[in-house]
Amino acid sequence: MLSASSIANRVRAGELDPVAVATEALSRLDAREPAVHAYLHVDREDVMQRAEALAQRVHRGDDPGRLAGVPVSLKDNIAVKGQTLTAGSRILEGYRAPYTSHVAERLQAEGALLLGRTNLDEFAMGASTENSAYGASRNPWDTSRVPGGSSGGSAAAVGAGIVPVALGSETGGSIRQPAALCGVTGFKPTYGHVSRYGLVAFGSSLDQIGPITAHAEDAALVYDVIAGADPRDSTCLRGERPSAARAKADVEGLRIAVPEDFVDDSVDAHVLMRVSEAMAVLEEAGAIVKVVERGRLAHAPLSIPVYYLVSSSEAAANLSRFDGMRYGPRHEGDTLLDTYRATRGELFGPEVRRRIMLGTFALSAGYHDAWYRKALQVRRLIQREFEALFEEFDLVAAPTSPFGAFSMGEKTDDPYAMYLCDLLTAPACLAGLPSVSVPCGLSKRGPYKGLPVGLQLIGAAGEDHRVLATARAFESERGEPERCELFGGSAA
Ligand code: GLN
Repeated sequence: MLSASSIANRVRAGELDPVAVATEALSRLDAREPAVHAYLHVDREDVMQRAEALAQRVHRGDDPGRLAGVPVSLKDNIAVKGQTLTAGSRILEGYRAPYTSHVAERLQAEGALLLGRTNLDEFAMGASTENSAYGASRNPWDTSRVPGGSSGGSAAAVGAGIVPVALGSETGGSIRQPAALCGVTGFKPTYGHVSRYGLVAFGSSLDQIGPITAHAEDAALVYDVIAGADPRDSTCLRGERPSAARAKADVEGLRIAVPEDFVDDSVDAHVLMRVSEAMAVLEEAGAIVKVVERGRLAHAPLSIPVYYLVSSSEAAANLSRFDGMRYGPRHEGDTLLDTYRATRGELFGPEVRRRIMLGTFALSAGYHDAWYRKALQVRRLIQREFEALFEEFDLVAAPTSPFGAFSMGEKTDDPYAMYLCDLLTAPACLAGLPSVSVPCGLSKRGPYKGLPVGLQLIGAAGEDHRVLATARAFESERGEPERCELFGGSAA
């Protein structure tokens, strides 16, 4: 599969027909989708019509855009007018988006071909895609394992080589963790760099949309397209963002911190080995890597309780709009209250109900100060510790996920074990920082043998371009990531 940038360059040069690109992507989808179940919906006619319109644009000599002819799949919580928007939930079954999200507008304006709606954990709550009401997605490296989550459908689609680019959304790790488990690149922008207009809200102070790509340079290209001011999202920052695709991919003199606070016994030894090798690659290329002693990010290990209190509180408020009156199906009861109860009780899945209960509890009178407010205070401490570290360092490095792709069903009976998947990704979300996961090889031994490992790089707020430039530099130093058999690689 070609990278997004080479597809766009060739389409722009008139060397590649967008109709042929779309046809090929759809035939890869037909061949590989049964193994991974990455998609909830594909509107083939729409894709082909748009590809033809684009071909005409090229033919007429109009600029077809920076993503001309690139097939891009969107997580099914990102609105595109007239298309499905289930958020992986029965409560939005059959619902069609009445308007288009900012990110989809930007992609279409640059000539991308929106191809399919990808599977996710219900309302993006989960780390394995097993919480989807429409069946779990599977990891393209080993279909008895999870692709991670909640953007598991997007990561599986890219990891299986169906499309070069998909968008995911992240609240606590849902772009980077599935990217790591599927052997592809995933990027979460600085909070406020990408508009949330048209994203189904989960934790509004945490949610960001970002790219999942087969090639690190494509993450930079797509970030440049979707990032930018948007008055329709009041938390979207004004002004320009520096280009990540044009930022110099050079790590000479770059100061990288490897904080001991990030790593505990739960991190798999073979994951750690790949990450230390990755650090050696960066050092070889001129970066200055330093292990930072325990205590500098002393509150990072509290990220899991803090994240679950904050995100569930916000989710409880955000999900109150799904009452059977305004969106999706309704389960009638005898009274209005019964109707609410029946609709929400029967159409929300168990994990979503758990989060609503937890959030409602944490926000309730008498408990608010002890839980919600306390969590916000610790969140602030985590932010400050990062700020202090970024006075001395340019980037922070760590594994993305404590472990590789686990087996389907392994953690479904134990919500807390599932929550621990976010141990290493939640800190950057709480602090609003940009962070990428890039593939750094396969685990050689142990329970995740032969499965991909992700290297996580976190930057200071607003340094998205630097984080992505380092990911590009890392990939060009190390070479293209290993690909699974389904992708067409030989590494499996
Ligand atoms: N696993 C985390 C959760 O379940 C993260 C989800 C996300 O980032 N959307 O909340």
